[in-house]
Amino acid sequence: MPTFPENAPVDDLPPLREVIRRHGLRAKKSLGQNFLLDLNLTGRIARAAGPLDGVEVIEIGPGPGGLTRALIAQGARRLIAVERDERAIAALAEIAARHPGRLDIVAGDALAFDPVPLLHGARARVVANLPYNIATALLVAWLTLEPWPPWYDRLVLMFQREVAERIVAGPGSKSYGRLSVLAGWRAQARILFDVAASAFVPPPKVTSSLVSLTPRQDPLPCERRALERTTEAAFGQRRKMLRQSLKSLGTDPLPLLASAGIEPTARAEDISVEGFVAIARALSAATG
Ligand code: SAM
Repeated sequence: MPTFPENAPVDDLPPLREVIRRHGLRAKKSLGQNFLLDLNLTGRIARAAGPLDGVEVIEIGPGPGGLTRALIAQGARRLIAVERDERAIAALAEIAARHPGRLDIVAGDALAFDPVPLLHGARARVVANLPYNIATALLVAWLTLEPWPPWYDRLVLMFQREVAERIVAGPGSKSYGRLSVLAGWRAQARILFDVAASAFVPPPKVTSSLVSLTPRQDPLPCERRALERTTEAAFGQRRKMLRQSLKSLGTDPLPLLASAGIEPTARAEDISVEGFVAIARALSAATG
């Protein structure tokens, strides 16, 4: 349940446009900055990630803090916010001062950030309006963590809709590809809702989608690297039959496909996650 009414301000901090003006936070394209200034929308995202009471939340790229404020209002026990833009740190410090002990600001690059030492064994939830230039790299890093299950219980992330569709796609879809197989292997993914470009300042060129990924506790056993090599080979030549495209693995594909129970004439986009895992396992066995 929301902890604040739909149309009321989430807190008594200044409006985000004022925060941006005071801290000179003019959006930089190089940092993938498209801010959400509508606190109703940030509240909706926080509710979609909730309930958050007692939950440790990690936010990547809090910027001026619209989503940050909503996540705190939604009950997050502690929010660790990782931001690379030094101009935003002072703005975030004002939020931290208003909520003692609930907001930890980490000034740095999310791609190099390891939350494990800060979590003391607790599971965290990642909620973010991601900078689109590193969104896929971050997701791949979170989906390929070892050991598994990972340190998060859920990822609730904003992507460009085209990327969101690739994450949730299944066999037979033109969006189905390497990212779909990786996401489907390790998580259950779904699109929660779309957000129009006009909701962001400045507006990006495309519609965005909020995606939820819940890690599978027991993904099918498989060597991650073998699965990545298999999908890279298969989708690298997605129109070719697997007996041809998998030749780039450097081993005869026919025994691999036979042991996986897959027709040599099938194409990448016909193969389920389970099928790719079976080929990858055969590859690991064949190449030691
Ligand atoms: N959360 C804010 C919002 O919804 O209004 C800002 C979202 S904006 C799409 C992306 C944010 O990620 C920006 O604040 C940007 O400075 C930050 N960012 C970009 N690259 C980053 C990186 N490598 N590590 C951490 N933060 C980064």
